[in-house]
Amino acid sequence: SWSSSDSVISTDSTGETLGPGKPLRVLLLGGSDVGKTAFASIFAGAADSMESDDCQIYGDEVCERTIEVDGEEATITLLDTWTTEEDRRCVAEDQCMQTGDAYLLLYSITDRASFLRASELRITLRCHRPARHTPIILVGNKCDLVRCREVSVSEGLACAAVFDCKFIETSAAMQHNVWEAFRGIVRQLRLRRDSKEA
Ligand code: GDP
Repeated sequence: SWSSSDSVISTDSTGETLGPGKPLRVLLLGGSDVGKTAFASIFAGAADSMESDDCQIYGDEVCERTIEVDGEEATITLLDTWTTEEDRRCVAEDQCMQTGDAYLLLYSITDRASFLRASELRITLRCHRPARHTPIILVGNKCDLVRCREVSVSEGLACAAVFDCKFIETSAAMQHNVWEAFRGIVRQLRLRRDSKEA
């Protein structure tokens, strides 16, 4: 059992074992200020009226929740382990890249630098995790801020195509498409699971 986020981080995952009741470890990755904390709090239910005991909190960074996707339940453990402190970043990056079953790679559509950062992270991730085993969704957050847009939808789509991952635009502020991103992760993991069983 997990008593601290440290033990979660050190847990190895091959991404290969996906039993029906096994929580999927989903990591939020991205530069600073892109909305990772906002995503995590929506997931944790802090931003809405959902029952808080649906969500088990392990430390500050880990939250577990069962959601229904296409009539089948899935338990997700959300890890928001990213740190932007330079001195810790390399360590955190290595740990992150080895921890998840799937990744939400966030940038802000209002911040081109965060889009470039997402590309860098995708490249680092690819070194640790071959794409075909690991679902990744490129998430263009803050799509409510239309007038401040610096990254177009087509650029996001093109980037996802190059990186062989899915793409979605979200607004954590408006709670738009955030759950759709989590459902997308579950669907991708199921596709991989089903193709392995076939
Ligand atoms: P993090 O550094 O990636 O964890 O980013 P945060 O979740 O702390 O968000 C950074 C800032 O952007 C905060 O002021 C949030 O309120 C704001 N923010 C996050 N998501 C959205 C969004 O979808 N739309 C808007 N307008 N603001 C957002």
